[in-house]
Amino acid sequence: MNDADDPALAVGADAFTDQGAGLEVAVVGAGAIGATTAYDLAREGAAVTLYDSGRVASGATGRAAGICYDAFADGLDAELAGEAIERFRTLSGDDTFPFVECPYVWLAREGDIDRADAIRDQIQRMQDNGVIALEMDGDALADRFPALRTDDVAVAGIAGAAGYADPAAYTACLAAAATGAGATLETDTPVDVRTDPARVIRPDGTVHEVDAVVVTAGARTKALLADAGISLAVKPYRVQALIADGDLAEPMCYDATGGFYLRPHANGVLVGDGTENREADPDSYDRNAGSTFTADIRDRVAHRVPGLADGGLERAWAGLCTATPDRDPLVGAVRDGVYVATGFQGHGFMRAPAVGQRLAREICGGSGIDAFDPTRFDGDEAFDVVDGMSLNPN
Ligand SMILES: Cc1cc2nc3c(=O)[nH]c(=O)nc-3n(C[C@H](O)[C@H](O)[C@H](O)COP(=O)(O)OP(=O)(O)OC[C@H]3O[C@@H](n4cnc5c(N)ncnc54)[C@H](O)[C@@H]3O)c2cc1C
Repeated sequence: MNDADDPALAVGADAFTDQGAGLEVAVVGAGAIGATTAYDLAREGAAVTLYDSGRVASGATGRAAGICYDAFADGLDAELAGEAIERFRTLSGDDTFPFVECPYVWLAREGDIDRADAIRDQIQRMQDNGVIALEMDGDALADRFPALRTDDVAVAGIAGAAGYADPAAYTACLAAAATGAGATLETDTPVDVRTDPARVIRPDGTVHEVDAVVVTAGARTKALLADAGISLAVKPYRVQALIADGDLAEPMCYDATGGFYLRPHANGVLVGDGTENREADPDSYDRNAGSTFTADIRDRVAHRVPGLADGGLERAWAGLCTATPDRDPLVGAVRDGVYVATGFQGHGFMRAPAVGQRLAREICGGSGIDAFDPTRFDGDEAFDVVDGMSLNPN
């Protein structure tokens, strides 16, 4: 595929720069983060090889729900999420991947005073940061979204800059666009990483010496870097999702009291959570959803969207997210020429278009995202895994 043929490059892409000219970079992991980083590095003129041990999007990205929003109370999170939404809108299209605009509602039920207060506080902070977020009570929510049960809602927030995409389609598009911009894609190639000098070792033992290695290997990032002598403060944890039959046009909704989220899906309604608050082993975790999760969650969904009460189960699955001690990701250099991007607490897809671009710029000599500096931790910190969508302050 050449640049002219490439759909993502044809849709509103910035002009190429040559900030990366002369740089040779290996990106390890072709999920949403790695594919975006590879694309942006290639556009900056770097010679990029994008490796994946399996197929493109065969990790968490291919199992993600695809929910995107800018409803973050923290200013930096909101800025990155806003950049990402804009980029989803720009890159999406009939020939690339669909990005479906859809409002995002998050709510707390009557009697859940702590979560209701947390939502009110979040909305205030979002508004202070320029994020378009509105507070509604149950009656106003009922008028706006008749599909939702609202008589038990104490308070809800609504973010308009939101929507959903198919994460695998986005990532396939960005990986193709990366090759269109000159990158080489090597799938079915599990590599090892070594430092001083930065290099990757291919399965046949050949060494690929580069100016920079970018480890975007999702839940395997920690083990991969441990083998290279680098400790990362990150823990993989298991989450679950399912698609139930049914019809819901809008909104996407996170019921904080009920502990689940849902969004419209072409085959019904996609529902998720089922978080396990303990470290999982990426090589041996159970990829199937548990029966407790599927039974419980359908009851809870029927409570929030009564029209979905009779929906049968189309499919259910599990995947791995990554947690950090402060719930902020680890993005940037960990050693000379070795970069990482992981620890997204279940919010990596929605931030990929912005994080990949920022990381590419850092590798090409620009500034990084200071607050996400991976070396802010030693790597041996003890910490609990906390659900990424919970209302804990961030
Ligand atoms: C059920 C579920 C629902 C989710 N819903 C959402 C959501 O709605 N919105 C959202 O923003 N986020 C969501 N997430 C989180 C999101 O999936 C992740 O944050 C994001 O996909 C991380 O992308 P990544 O590129 O960092 O990692 P991954 O997608 O895991 O990609 C890592 C890649 O590295 C490859 N790899 C591993 N080891 C090697 C090696 N040695 N050599 C070469 N390649 C290697 C893997 O094969 C894989 O393809 C969800 C996650 C799950 C599991």
